[in-house]
Amino acid sequence: MTMQVTVPAQTLPVIGQADVCVIGGSCTGVFAAIRAARLGARVIIVEKQNRFGGVAVSGLVNIWHDIFDTEGKNQIIAGLTQETLSRLERRKEVDITPHLVWKYAIFNSEELAIELDEMVAEAGIVPMFHTVFSEPYYQDGKLAGVIVDNKSGRGVILAQAFVDASGDGDLCVRAGFSSWRAPVTQPPTTCARFSGWSLPQGFDYASEVFRHAAEYKLPPGFIWGEPVPNSDLFMMAGTRVPNCDCADAAQLTAAEIEGRRQLRAIKDILKKYCGMDKLEFQALSSMIGIRESRHVNALYQVTGDELLAGHRFDDAIANGTYRVDIHLQDKPGTILRYLDGHEEHHCQGKCDVRRWRPETAENPTFYQIPLRCLIPKDSTNLIMAGRMLDADREGYGALRVMVNLNQTGEAAGVAAALAVDRGVAIPAIPAADVRAALAAGGSAII
Ligand SMILES: Cc1cc2nc3c(=O)[nH]c(=O)nc-3n(C[C@H](O)[C@H](O)[C@H](O)COP(=O)(O)OP(=O)(O)OC[C@H]3O[C@@H](n4cnc5c(N)ncnc54)[C@H](O)[C@@H]3O)c2cc1C
Repeated sequence: MTMQVTVPAQTLPVIGQADVCVIGGSCTGVFAAIRAARLGARVIIVEKQNRFGGVAVSGLVNIWHDIFDTEGKNQIIAGLTQETLSRLERRKEVDITPHLVWKYAIFNSEELAIELDEMVAEAGIVPMFHTVFSEPYYQDGKLAGVIVDNKSGRGVILAQAFVDASGDGDLCVRAGFSSWRAPVTQPPTTCARFSGWSLPQGFDYASEVFRHAAEYKLPPGFIWGEPVPNSDLFMMAGTRVPNCDCADAAQLTAAEIEGRRQLRAIKDILKKYCGMDKLEFQALSSMIGIRESRHVNALYQVTGDELLAGHRFDDAIANGTYRVDIHLQDKPGTILRYLDGHEEHHCQGKCDVRRWRPETAENPTFYQIPLRCLIPKDSTNLIMAGRMLDADREGYGALRVMVNLNQTGEAAGVAAALAVDRGVAIPAIPAADVRAALAAGGSAII
C-alpha cells in the first residue's frame, strides 16, 4: 500500500473570480474561453505550459484536417477554427490544400501560439500560464472553485461554471465524476522538427526507418511528417510508446524519456541510411503528444457505428469527416476506416486496402458530435471539452482530431456561459439554445 501522510487544512488566497473558469489551454480550451467571453462571461483560463495550443503547439503537431464535407461541397466546420485559419492566412503562416481530408491546413505552431495569445487578449479573458489545476473546491456541496498551484503559491479561483479542457479530465476525475480508460489506448508520440531535411525525390524514409527498427529498438508502427510552412524544416511524428497510461505520473515520465530516445534513434537511422548527413533537431516537443488517456462518463456515449453511418443528432454541436483512425497496440500498424466504406491498414510503410462494409449507392458525407457526450453524468456546473469526451473506441478514433475537438470547446464555452447567465445547471440548457448561440457566433450548425 502507498505510504500516506495527513496534510493540515489550509487557508488559501482567492486569486481570481470569474463566471467561467477553463482548465487547459489547447485550442479546445481557448475556444471554450473565447465563446464564453463573447457571450458576456468573465473568463479565466488556466494552462500548465507557458503557451496556449496544447498538442498543436507544445506537441508540434501542425496539421488540421478538412473543414468541408467529404464531397468538398459544404463547409461543415467554421467558427473559431475558420477564424484562426483566416488569421494565420493573413500572416501567410498556413498552407491550405482545399478538400484534402488528411492534410487540409498545415501551419506554423509558434505563429499559432502567438495568435492564440492575441485572441485571448481581444476577448478580455484572464490567462494564467505556468499554473496547474490540482483540486476542486466546494461550497455547500457545490463545485465553487479550483485550487491551482503556480510560482506564487497555492490559490483558489472561484467561478460559477467550469470547463475541463485538460485533455485527461483532471478536474472531472478529481471532482469525483466517473471515468473509464479503454483497455487499449492510442499510444502517445513525441514529435520533433528537423533542419537539414533533404531526401532524394521519391525516397521512402518511413520504410527505411522500419527496416532498421529492430536494431534501434523501435516499436512497429506508423510514421509521418510534414514540412513547416515558409521554412526548410520538417515536422515528424514517428515515435510511439505502447501500453502507456498517460494519466499515471510515473508512466508519463517514462514515456517522455522513451519518446526522446526513439527520436534520436530515428535521427540516427535517417543520417546513416537515408543520406541526410546535415540532419539536426531544430525542436523537440515540450511535452509528449497524448492521443488518449481517460474518458469521462457522460450523459451519452457516441459510437463509431453512429459516426460511420452519418447519424444526425438533435443536439449536434459539431461536424466532422476525419476517418476512424485506430492506432493498434495489440498488433503493428494503424487502421483507417472511411465514411465511403473502405479501410486501410497501414503498417511498416505498407498499406493494405479493403472494404469494411459493402458498397452503397450513397455514402454519408460527414458525421456529428452530440452535446450530451460532453456533459458528465450528474454534473451541474461542469462540462468537458476535448479528448476526454465520451465515445467508444471507434468513435474516439475519429473524433480525436483537432478540428473536431475545437468545436467541442466552443460548445462547452457556450453551454457554460448560457448556464451562468440564466442561473441554471448546464444540463438544463436546451441543446437548441446552445446550437442557436453557436450558429449566431459563426459555427456551422446543421
Ligand atoms: C503525435 C500526435 C499526432 C496527432 N496528429 C494529429 C493531426 O495531424 N491532426 C489533428 O487534428 N489531430 C492530431 N492528433 C490528435 C490531437 O492533437 C489531440 O487529440 C488533441 O490535440 C487533443 O486536444 P485536447 O485539447 O483535448 O488536449 P491537449 O491538446 O492535450 O490539451 C490539453 C491542455 O491542457 C493542459 N493541461 C493538462 N492538464 C492540466 C492541468 N492539470 N492544469 C492546467 N493545464 C493542464 C495541457 O498543458 C494542454 O495545453 C495528434 C495527436 C498526437 C499526440
